[in-house]
Amino acid sequence: MNEIEQAKQTEICKNCKNIVVGKGNINASIMFVGEAPGANEDLQGLPFVGVAGKNLDKLLNEVGLTLNDIYVTNILKCRPPENRAPLPEEIKAHTPWLIKQIREMKPKVVCSLGNYATKFFIGGLSPENMNNQLGITQLHGKVKEIEFEGLKFKLIPLFHPAAIIYNRGLLSLWEKDMEIVKKEIKSAS
Ligand code: URA
Repeated sequence: MNEIEQAKQTEICKNCKNIVVGKGNINASIMFVGEAPGANEDLQGLPFVGVAGKNLDKLLNEVGLTLNDIYVTNILKCRPPENRAPLPEEIKAHTPWLIKQIREMKPKVVCSLGNYATKFFIGGLSPENMNNQLGITQLHGKVKEIEFEGLKFKLIPLFHPAAIIYNRGLLSLWEKDMEIVKKEIKSAS
């Protein structure tokens, strides 16, 4: 079974309205990875189009980044019911598709948005290792070189744009982290 078929076997994929693969420029050098589609994403079949997405657009605009400069996707490609947290077996079944996307795109920089995406990458792109990892509060803005089966990129963990809506105190930390993102994009291009 290939990566896509494997994800499609999960209950969340059988029950969702649309599979949400990604949006933006697949030829860009920077990829953003969130957690999972929500209700609006499920309806439209595109990631980050709801409230969190509007905030992400605004935050990226402020540093001059548009969808032409980045590609955006998620750990899970289908919406979990009631937006519950991803289950370990869902992460296991869906992340081979994410890895396939990374192999095809070969981004130089990956920004993980929030805890799930960050723990997945920090744990060596292995769902089994996610539990033992530090969270986004400790890791945000800390650049880490990732090497995985011949792939090489810089990981920059960032707060999830939804978290910034509910906790405005995170905004100044996000702004500092984006300075790091800008610097890394510049040195990668
Ligand atoms: N939150 C995410 O993590 N991803 C989306 O696509 C939308 C909201």
